[in-house]
Amino acid sequence: MSLPERYAFIAEWYDQNAAIMRSYQLLYYASDNTVEMYDIKNRRIFLKRSKVENLCFEDLFIGGTINVHSRQLNLVEYADEFTKKQLSSKKEKTLAMIKPDAVAKFGAIIDMIYRGGFLIVNAKMTKLSRKDAEEFYQEHVQRPFFDNLVRFMASGPSIAMELMSNSAVTEWRRLLGPTDSSMARSEAPNSVRAKFGTDQTRNACHGSDAVATGQRETSFFFAAPGRWKNTAKFSESSCCVIKPSAVLEGNAGQIMMAIKEAGFEVSALQMFHLEKANAEEFFEVYKGVVAEFTEMVQELCSGPCFALEITGKGPNTANDFREFVGPADPEIARTLRPNTLRAKFGLNKIKNAIHCTDLPEDCQLEVEYFFRILAE
Ligand code: ATP
Ligand code: MG
Repeated sequence: MSLPERYAFIAEWYDQNAAIMRSYQLLYYASDNTVEMYDIKNRRIFLKRSKVENLCFEDLFIGGTINVHSRQLNLVEYADEFTKKQLSSKKEKTLAMIKPDAVAKFGAIIDMIYRGGFLIVNAKMTKLSRKDAEEFYQEHVQRPFFDNLVRFMASGPSIAMELMSNSAVTEWRRLLGPTDSSMARSEAPNSVRAKFGTDQTRNACHGSDAVATGQRETSFFFAAPGRWKNTAKFSESSCCVIKPSAVLEGNAGQIMMAIKEAGFEVSALQMFHLEKANAEEFFEVYKGVVAEFTEMVQELCSGPCFALEITGKGPNTANDFREFVGPADPEIARTLRPNTLRAKFGLNKIKNAIHCTDLPEDCQLEVEYFFRILAE
């Protein structure tokens, strides 16, 4: 059977000129990668069926954002039963959390997540208070290990992440391995807990135990963003953005590992889906200076990116990090500076894997742009 599959969503777009949210029915045709849109309020065709560059089936899920002809649309609901039935099990979500004992290994864990076939759709480094940890693990309040568990969870930063894949809940728990890290080492030696866990309580990561729990737990972290302070220091730091094309290639974990191996610390981390206006604002200083400004903006808002606050080398952090990132053009980097991040992970001058702050005096501004302005 070769019926063209048509998926229907409700999409929202914030119209800045009119300062209102507009709603559309968005139809996606998988056979030829085309999109058609209806304006719901005005009951008319908004976009005739047409091809959309850079859009793929993987981008279509509730809570996701897509770019259609330079408009950033948020997919807020399924618009028919077929779409709902087809996609809700395929695009299941779960909460993964890197616990305080394993945050130092976050790059390797994120790499395992991408290699395991998951998409990361949300991520944030934050520090749970005792009260947050008690609330998160409320189901275990009567257990003898509760006090220990809560103290451990509040002992340092964690990284909460929303993962998506086929049967994400079960698959992530499979990748995690048994709760007890030593049992994980004997029974599932390639699991996350076997590799990075210490004991029964300090077991590297958390995973939701059912779809409904996953919904509750992802809302806990991502539906109330104001509740969760990020961990940025805003001093002696530099701003690093792992660009959407590098994230899409599945290289984010590898890049994070390389940053740590080079002796830097990552003191804050968050995933962002930038809108065009934000990307333009962030790259403002390059406007009229760099010929590829438009393409740079386009790349930065073409999908999710990771923003990192880089620390660890005191007053030399900004300069050292910039050296480590390397020349803007990966081809030049591969010839002249083969050990730099862009030499290893960049594709071309636009898709060069990493943005880092150019001038030391701009570092605080850039870190603040992500971790104060956009995060709040
Ligand atoms: P998580 O919920 O963190 O993904 P899990 O579902 O494998 O892990 P739970 O039974 O929900 O395990 O326990 C929650 C957490 O409490 C465990 O991850 C671990 O940190 C801690 N814990 C569980 N059982 C014990 C135990 N017997 N002794 C000490 N700590 C434990
Ligand atoms: Mg559990």
